[in-house]
Amino acid sequence: MKILEDRIRRDGIVREGNVLKVDSFLNHRMDVELFREMGREWKRLFADRPVNKILTIEASGIGIAAVAALEFGVPVVFAKKSKSINLDQDNYVTQIESFTHHRTYDVIVSRKFLGPEDHVLIIDDFLANGCALQGLLQITKEAGATVEGIGIAIEKGFQPGGRLIREQGFRLESLAIVESMDPETGIVFRE
Ligand code: 5GP
Repeated sequence: MKILEDRIRRDGIVREGNVLKVDSFLNHRMDVELFREMGREWKRLFADRPVNKILTIEASGIGIAAVAALEFGVPVVFAKKSKSINLDQDNYVTQIESFTHHRTYDVIVSRKFLGPEDHVLIIDDFLANGCALQGLLQITKEAGATVEGIGIAIEKGFQPGGRLIREQGFRLESLAIVESMDPETGIVFRE
């Protein structure tokens, strides 16, 4: 998606450790006009899929998922990162290893808000090693929901998450795929 790639080129900052900072339009200040264009693009790409719910994970997924949900006309459920879990029967629970924070989170979704009747589009801001997505996929599986597709804003194509998810047969649409990035030479996108 050209406007997203242009924005990453203009405002993205490449940090040591394969981290791309996009705080100025996605992860801290949010450019909701850009989010709307991203939502429209996912709507176009998944037009043939009977999506009735969008699933994302806090915190950075929520903004883009909420704006995309307006295009789909469906509600959003976000998985909550939880330090201490009430081991009750009310939640689906999984563990996710954070790429940026180098720690493991427990993640929960209430059983009230996801079930076998759901046709889910999963949306998230970044795809790196795929841990966050695998956790969300695990939750949808436990819920008996159908995954209609996965929409990612920025995939780091040089990390294995995208390949692993596509190999599992999921339809994954990343709006920008970073092929390589370097603090000196900049960012190259996949054609
Ligand atoms: P994964 O679980 O695929 O390894 O990483 C995905 C999650 O880590 C995303 O939800 C995002 O919050 C965070 N993340 C991974 N790589 C980056 C990055 O380069 N920049 C930013 N801002 N977040 C990232």
